[in-house]
Amino acid sequence: MTPEEFRSHGKDLIDWIADYWDSVGQRPITPDITPGEIRALLPDRAPEQPEPFDAVVADLDRVVMPGLTHWQHPGWFAYFPAQASFPAILGELAAAGLGQQGMMWSTSPATTEVEAHVLDWLVDLLGLPQTWKTTSTGGGALQMSASDSTHTALVVAREQAARRGTPIAEMVVYTSTQAHSSVEKGARVAALPTVRLVDTTPGTHAMSAEAFEAAVEKDLAAGLTPVVVCPSVGTTGTTAVDPVRDIATVARSHDMWVHVDAAYAGSAMICPEFRHHQDGLELVDSYTVNPHKWLQTNFDCSVLWVADRRPLIETMSILPPYLVEQAASGEGGAAIDYRDWHVPLGRRFRALKLWWVLRSIGVEGLRRQIRDHCEWAVWLANRVADHPDLELVAPTPFALVSFAHRGGDEATQALADAVVATRVNYLATSVIDGRRFIRVSIGSTTTRREHVESLWAVIDASSGSTAGRASLGP
Ligand SMILES: *Cc1c(COP(=O)(O)O)cnc(C)c1O
Repeated sequence: MTPEEFRSHGKDLIDWIADYWDSVGQRPITPDITPGEIRALLPDRAPEQPEPFDAVVADLDRVVMPGLTHWQHPGWFAYFPAQASFPAILGELAAAGLGQQGMMWSTSPATTEVEAHVLDWLVDLLGLPQTWKTTSTGGGALQMSASDSTHTALVVAREQAARRGTPIAEMVVYTSTQAHSSVEKGARVAALPTVRLVDTTPGTHAMSAEAFEAAVEKDLAAGLTPVVVCPSVGTTGTTAVDPVRDIATVARSHDMWVHVDAAYAGSAMICPEFRHHQDGLELVDSYTVNPHKWLQTNFDCSVLWVADRRPLIETMSILPPYLVEQAASGEGGAAIDYRDWHVPLGRRFRALKLWWVLRSIGVEGLRRQIRDHCEWAVWLANRVADHPDLELVAPTPFALVSFAHRGGDEATQALADAVVATRVNYLATSVIDGRRFIRVSIGSTTTRREHVESLWAVIDASSGSTAGRASLGP
């Protein structure tokens, strides 16, 4: 492709993307296909000869579109949001266009310095401790996902404990029964053998600090060593908020690492009125939040912050001979070599899209959308609470509404199925305390209040007055 052809195809593709966003709300939100249908549209072998690029792009409509679940649809209420925005899309394009590898400061000074600076901005914007800035003792590094951030934190905690002489076989990780599966997975990848799932408090589903302390005492008595605890600010199931200060106070008295998983709810901290949920962060060692969920920055963009960067760098730094000459960050180094802050060596210019989102949408704009989503969630939660056949199963501290049908699991599932069958709205169910419930997660950038109102109209119309009505189906 020549530069002239690139200009022309690039402009056409931007038009195509803008058309997609214009029309996404009119499309059925989920595809109507069976496994293998998309592959069947593809040739058996890769092309030996180049094809015209117009034909390549045309297959976005022919091959790709029929197989999409539309995460940017205004009726998207499933899982958590995977936000995207035009400035972020352009930031991705610019990053690809620059083709940088920012593994060390010297291999791309701008990639490193923009990232460090923007993440220091976020420390202020999210009300995090000042020591977490790269200009102080800590710092943030962009990772692919919260799972990577949590895995990395667990490896650092393991190394710290190993340096104190604790055998890996005796190390114990704690998190709540409601924690994201990435804690267990990260522990497994980090070869940490024991994960204790601590009980939660009925009603709030938040980790019980007393149950955590009791578990620690029991393990100590059995000759094991508590090494790390992972409280959540906003669990995936119901956005429960663990009492970070109480948990961290117990953990500190046993020299444990504290890693906070705020993958979803961390973005809400851009609004000061939510920050009481993260009280106690000055006692925490590491923290992860995903701007790719709720800060309008396309996947992938997860931040890992550490209060003190030395243990992280000690754990992750390996200096192969072919990189010695360019390394900047040795003891007292003036620059950051981000390859020492995570597992990968190579790294792209991920901070560019985050920087562009902050500048183009502005912090006020990001705050407004979070406040809107949370306000609409409270509105919906109030409708649910007033409905004779429905019942909230958890509080609504952010923009997730968790509820069940009083008629039981079958009625709850029938209600969810009826909503999904419209293909105008999409939501998912989960299980808490052995009970099935519906999660309505408000957070697509294209969702407006009227979409939440029409979702409620469907829920109201489909929930009937008894379980018998629900069993009739949509
Ligand atoms: C979404 C989520 C994760 C996983 O995030 P990835 O970036 O997809 O790995 C972890 N923890 C919580 C609380 C989440 O909501």
